[in-house]
Amino acid sequence: MLPGGVLARYGHLLNLPPHTQPVTLLEGGTPLIPAPRLARELAEGMSLWIKYEGLNPTGSFKDRGMTAAISEAAGRGARTVICASTGNTAASAAAYAARAGMKCIVLIPEGKVALGKLAGALAYGATVVQIEGSFDDALHLVVEVTRKYPIALVNSLNPYRIEGQKTAAFEICDDLGTAPDWLCLPVGNAGNITAYWAGFRQYHERQGTGLPRLLGVQAAGAAPLVLGHPVDRPETVATAIRIGRPARGEEALQAAAESGGRIIAVTDEEILRMQRLLAQTEGIWVEPASAAGLAGLAAEIAAGRLRPRGQRIVAVCTGHGLKDPDIVSRSFVQPLVLPPRLDVLEEVILKP
Ligand SMILES: *Cc1c(COP(=O)(O)O)cnc(C)c1O
Repeated sequence: MLPGGVLARYGHLLNLPPHTQPVTLLEGGTPLIPAPRLARELAEGMSLWIKYEGLNPTGSFKDRGMTAAISEAAGRGARTVICASTGNTAASAAAYAARAGMKCIVLIPEGKVALGKLAGALAYGATVVQIEGSFDDALHLVVEVTRKYPIALVNSLNPYRIEGQKTAAFEICDDLGTAPDWLCLPVGNAGNITAYWAGFRQYHERQGTGLPRLLGVQAAGAAPLVLGHPVDRPETVATAIRIGRPARGEEALQAAAESGGRIIAVTDEEILRMQRLLAQTEGIWVEPASAAGLAGLAAEIAAGRLRPRGQRIVAVCTGHGLKDPDIVSRSFVQPLVLPPRLDVLEEVILKP
């Protein structure tokens, strides 16, 4: 059988209209990587896996929802799609639109999108517009545009995005045999945590795989769901979750509460420290936002609020490290510059 993407594998479990015409880049099927060295750094006696969503075709989990949204739009004859984005949605929409022969327009907050994401959207041929404002301003604009014109909205307000993103929960259950005890993940616009919860619930009803507790993690400078009110000027190094008015905030809070879990915030420092620790203990390099789930896990364990012993924990790492190369030049040790001489080189590399 030829390999398929998430619609080929799980389409029968997704609520998509009959006119849907699959547009795929063979997304999904990402590895669930055991992380024993990182687990030992954090606590004794827990099992930890990384769901490495950075290995999707455009480098983030957004491809799971985008294949569904673009397939539905293609099936009803849409010619143009539009989205607001902190970066990864833009790259994903642009790639799938190209694949479907559609035009793609993306609105991004000026100066706040990581280089690898902007480059992707441009490379795939989208019309990229920088808005002098935040993601929330951009989202507001695209909703207005799609009310006035026959242009398909592919933000996670689009219900098919959520349907497609449920497939990550199915894959985790299929790989582990059951749901884990805890699922930790970053929360921005809150579509992903909403989709995971819907996916785990659906699988549990179907085949009794159990339900995880959800630990949703926001950045302290963009934590409306922790503060209990919108944030007008969200700020964080984790640009993918730099969102002050999450579109699915209510659903996210409800999902976390229903699961017996919670939504917390971590500082940028904690996020960057975890990005380094994950890369240097396990060889898994993710963009800053993607380290937030793990940073939240570490904080909960350190504060004694989460007892890890005997627990099976999955951390969702949502996007690849290559998306945001700039951050490495700011927060990692920089390369040495030496003259081309063996004695100098020996002195440096052999010193204890
Ligand atoms: C979109 C995104 C998030 C946040 O997901 P939401 O569904 O907006 O909560 C987190 N990390 C990365 C890398 C993303 O691209």
